[in-house]
Amino acid sequence: MPGAADGRAHLFNDRTAERYRRSVTGGVDLVAATVARTDRPFTGVTPAQLAPEISGIDLERPLGDAGAALEELKGVYLKDAVYFHHPRYLAHLNCPVVIPALLGEAVLSAVNSSLDTWDQSAGGTLIERRLIDWTAERIGLGEAADGIFTSGGTQSNLQAMLLARDEACKLVEKEAAATGSGEIPPKSAILPRLRILTSEASHFSIQKAAAILGLGYEAVIPVPCDQDRRMRTVALARELDRCHRENQVVMAVVATAGTTDFGSIDPLPEIAGLCARYGSWLHVDAAYGCGLLASTTRRHLLNGIERADSVTVDYHKSFFQPVSSSAVLVRDRATLSHATYHADYLNPERSAENLIPNQVDKSIQTTRRFDALKLWLTLRIMGADAIGALFDEVVDRAAEGWSLLDTDPRYEVVTQPQLSTLVFRYVPPADETCDPALVDRANLHAREALAASGEAVVAGTVVDGRHYLKFTLLNPETSLSDIAFVLDLLAEHAGQYLALHIEPELSHSRAS
Ligand SMILES: *Cc1c(COP(=O)(O)O)cnc(C)c1O
Repeated sequence: MPGAADGRAHLFNDRTAERYRRSVTGGVDLVAATVARTDRPFTGVTPAQLAPEISGIDLERPLGDAGAALEELKGVYLKDAVYFHHPRYLAHLNCPVVIPALLGEAVLSAVNSSLDTWDQSAGGTLIERRLIDWTAERIGLGEAADGIFTSGGTQSNLQAMLLARDEACKLVEKEAAATGSGEIPPKSAILPRLRILTSEASHFSIQKAAAILGLGYEAVIPVPCDQDRRMRTVALARELDRCHRENQVVMAVVATAGTTDFGSIDPLPEIAGLCARYGSWLHVDAAYGCGLLASTTRRHLLNGIERADSVTVDYHKSFFQPVSSSAVLVRDRATLSHATYHADYLNPERSAENLIPNQVDKSIQTTRRFDALKLWLTLRIMGADAIGALFDEVVDRAAEGWSLLDTDPRYEVVTQPQLSTLVFRYVPPADETCDPALVDRANLHAREALAASGEAVVAGTVVDGRHYLKFTLLNPETSLSDIAFVLDLLAEHAGQYLALHIEPELSHSRAS
């Protein structure tokens, strides 16, 4: 029976530093070797094929040895993992990662600082704060800005909506106190009046946030988009006006700087103007578009973002950082106090001259990873311009890909991209008429067949009720010929599917 002594040999400390080095190096060597010979983004493995491998492992019988465990891991994970670094991984908003950030990941997990309080992180707290300031400055949020690293865009959006909700309640209470009887309505009377206005192409985490915050999905009012999938400001103005007339409180307008499906950027200056006029909180969800903050040529696409009250950035999308790395920024640091709760064991009272920076006061998490270290080493080793250049490259590639698709009779392509997504669908040759539902199924089939082959991974989405295919380009290593190659494969799969399924229809019509 392995006992406490055996367990202690695995604790990382001064006496086991060498074991740590060997163990982690072994893991790094294995990943490096695996990546070096990965020639497809995916093997096409199915859950049914993989599940028995994993359920067959007896967790009551440890292998005791890192080498043996890594060997086992090859079979149950590394062999069939989805590899985002591969140039034909074109599906979701997952980026290849930069090595300086991987170095940061190795350091941060070993030291294991927790960024909730100074006495659990010391310098980590200051590094995180410095990066928040750096990001806020790039956005242009002003002197009073602040923010916090989060686990992802979903959490950043949730926190932003929490702050917006509580600011809106505060405002309603203040107005009530200043008028008439001075009677302050209870929270339960204010919450049902709150609304969030966001475009129909915005991220579903806004709806989730509304639900978690006790407002319900219905509190989110979708604002229609124009042809380019950007929020229609005329429609937004109409909704703001309607809410005002109907005694509803617009607690936030959420603009998206880089929609998940189309990479479209809402007209931020116009939206900011409307928010100013109606006194609404402006949140800009730049989970995807934040990479432009580092661009030396396209920063202007984000113009207007500096007028936001809060901003979501996902470094793990367009700053080439490993999951997770995200932040929520605010214009006025005082608003972060809505996330503050006094706990004696975490924030003991201190004298004014002895203020200790405790990041937990600004976060909805308590124990929190030092994810900021990855961005820190990225900026210290590569610099922001290099990150911006990588993102610019994929935006350029998307523009080239769009031209390719636009002139390809096999495909129909939606909106010219502002960022790096391409949304398109296979269409049968003009002389073949077929049921639109069948074309939908052919596109669905093409995506699945491609993934099953492991040659490439692409995403799908629904536009105006029809199935489309989607490339999200985040890898500068993806060339135009990779794109052309994948388009050929998709057309082949879709064409074969149609041929199989149209034939019976045609012969049927010939017979009748
Ligand atoms: C990805 C995305 C999110 C959610 O971010 P996670 O990091 O996946 O939680 C939010 N908003 C937009 C626009 C996104 O693209």
